[in-house]
Amino acid sequence: MTGEIFDIKHFAVHDGPGIRTTIFLKGCPLHCVWCHNPEGMRRGKDLWVKREACIHCETCIHTCPKQALRMKDGEVSIDRSLCDFCNKCVEKCPARAMQRIDRQAEVKELVDLVTREEIFTRVSGGGVTISGGEPLYQPEFLKELLQGMKQAGVPTCIETSMFAKQEVLESIAPYVDQFLVDIKILDEETHKKYTGVSNQQILSNFRYLAGLGKPILVRIPLIPGITATEENLRAIRAFVDSVNPEIPIEVLNFNSFAGSKYRFLDQKYFNDELRAFPREELEQLRSCVEE
Ligand code: SF4
Ligand code: SF4
Repeated sequence: MTGEIFDIKHFAVHDGPGIRTTIFLKGCPLHCVWCHNPEGMRRGKDLWVKREACIHCETCIHTCPKQALRMKDGEVSIDRSLCDFCNKCVEKCPARAMQRIDRQAEVKELVDLVTREEIFTRVSGGGVTISGGEPLYQPEFLKELLQGMKQAGVPTCIETSMFAKQEVLESIAPYVDQFLVDIKILDEETHKKYTGVSNQQILSNFRYLAGLGKPILVRIPLIPGITATEENLRAIRAFVDSVNPEIPIEVLNFNSFAGSKYRFLDQKYFNDELRAFPREELEQLRSCVEE
């Protein structure tokens, strides 16, 4: 079986226990305004221009048979409505600035890749992490991928928003050793405003997952003025405590580097002014969920 991925990270140390290979599945039903992986949001074919790498040689512009590319304000600009993803610009770009984001990958190919790296991951207590996008958005592929990893003896972890029907979680849970779950905002209306969806299914799925007794780590991305308020963090802690106070929560500092990815995609980032929290503020926010 094949699925759609947009990246593979080797020797990752923040995506679960030990050293891991992280596979990013493409497509997500949420639209968080701060999304750190905008290239993984949409399903389907896509390309971007890594503007910092571009040497302005204009090769891509002369190569494109659809006249989808031109120079605008000193930068290569794509008319995405004209592009048919022939890949000619990607193949000709001397700076590797023009890149396809999407890739079809086979389960076997990914299992083989991960097992080749096992010498590093196994000694560290690591394994594979399936992330996204939202991995539950490709449920059949995800299930087969996890099954393949388990058959190969690779410890598995999934990083998910839990936004899916409970049946999807039921079908993949037997093949997952560790869940990394996002709970971003507890108030339903605020959640809708910033992610585009209600959080009721997410909270219900969290209760279900907690009942399975498998290791869960809740992770909260700290977005200034949105998720990173003491009120929201304490509300999430209280909710998790009401389900199982033993479940740990981790906060993730704001990543201010995501903005450049939006420029690669000709999209506007929601706020270019935001920066990561300094240590003292981070500790104060952390204390809301770890006390
Ligand atoms: S992929 Fe093909 S059609 Fe699309 S911009 Fe590149 S050269 Fe043009
Ligand atoms: S071919 Fe590559 S380096 Fe040259 S202008 Fe196009 S994107 Fe930039």
